[in-house]
Amino acid sequence: LPKRYEGSEKSVWVEYIQLALEYKPLNLGQGFPDYPAPKYVIDALSEVASGENYMIHQYTRGFGHPRLVAALSKLYSKLIGREINPQTEILTTLGAYEALFSAITGHVDDGDEVIIIEPFFDCYEPMVKYAGGVPRFIPLRMKNASEGLPSSADWVLDQKELESLFNSKTKMIILNTPNNPLGKVFTEKELTQISDLCKKWNVLCISDEVYEWIVYKPNKHIRIATLPGMWERTITIGSAGKTFSVTGWKLGWAYGPANLMVNLQMIHQNCVYTGCTPVQEATAIAFEKELKRFGSDECYFVSIAQELLPKRDYMTQFLRDVGMKPIVPEGGYFMIADWSPLESEVDLTSETDRYKDYRFTKWMTKNIGLQGIPPTAFYSTPNKHLAESLVRYCFIKKDENLEKAAEILQKWK
Ligand code: PMP
Ligand code: GLN
Repeated sequence: LPKRYEGSEKSVWVEYIQLALEYKPLNLGQGFPDYPAPKYVIDALSEVASGENYMIHQYTRGFGHPRLVAALSKLYSKLIGREINPQTEILTTLGAYEALFSAITGHVDDGDEVIIIEPFFDCYEPMVKYAGGVPRFIPLRMKNASEGLPSSADWVLDQKELESLFNSKTKMIILNTPNNPLGKVFTEKELTQISDLCKKWNVLCISDEVYEWIVYKPNKHIRIATLPGMWERTITIGSAGKTFSVTGWKLGWAYGPANLMVNLQMIHQNCVYTGCTPVQEATAIAFEKELKRFGSDECYFVSIAQELLPKRDYMTQFLRDVGMKPIVPEGGYFMIADWSPLESEVDLTSETDRYKDYRFTKWMTKNIGLQGIPPTAFYSTPNKHLAESLVRYCFIKKDENLEKAAEILQKWK
């Protein structure tokens, strides 16, 4: 095995999806909705697929289907406050995964350092290593508990520690807001601190914003590309899977200045070349519809967070009721909870995994019938100990299934 692949042999997704198939627990593991996506989105795909235009089933423009890049340009020009060129400043990809891969591989050279904020979506680390880069990690740390319920806002970067990671070898920082798995939504002040360091050290920012529309009031999603001097050095990534609750469509995109985007286009043209045409056409139709009702309560970009808020609050309550300590997320559809108060009721010796959260989640899947994800998967090896007493649950699920999860936990306790 080439050295740069070492350590990435195992994937929490491969392992836990297999486990779910085998034991059939109530699945609050991998993040996807278990109820229908908006009807008009599904109708768009079915009309595109069965319509008169049979050419929609053939290859489309490699860097992005024209109708989709036009819609993305319209939307993000408005949000970023500058004209985004659909030909040169946008790339559509096979999921946000490919956008991340192209952005990282297209820029990181041997020995370049890449700053990753923990907990992080797990593919960042292997992608940086595949490109020959050196990941440098910095964990968000829980500051002294504020009043009321602990929230993802209590998890912050230490400014001195962050500064100490930047040096002349730093090529990029990967930001994820709203964050998976914590749900943290970075504030303007936090983003300004990051952007000041990026400008000082001439560093690129890859901003993974796949949960951009899932932010709970009064929190606000701020695109780091809108901060002064940041457009020039930021590549922002989105996902149709998260935007329209169709994770199986595996359509993503990246946008940023043309001189950076050429590097992503290069990777894309040689590894993938072109994406799925009908899925891009249907997504364009969905964006066109949302653009027409942008900002209104009916707009899905507004209603999705409203739809998820009671689910978030319900989960917070039932986890507390059984004695766990949930961290209320400001965005996204995952919740981190501390399960250690229940440790005496779990048989952690029945599994052989090195980290306790793996043993806890496997034991729960097999014996209690409820699946969550072990958060040490979102930490570098030296920092995994920070997450061993935690579990991640997904709450973009039918109320009925969240109620079942609550029942399963109550029955066990
Ligand atoms: N980034 C984050 C933070 C995610 O949670 C996901 C979820 N899969 C992705 C990227 C990848 O998205 P996609 O399914 O569009 O490839
Ligand atoms: N983003 C989703 C999650 O975090 C899906 C992960 C994946 O498909 N690898 O659960």
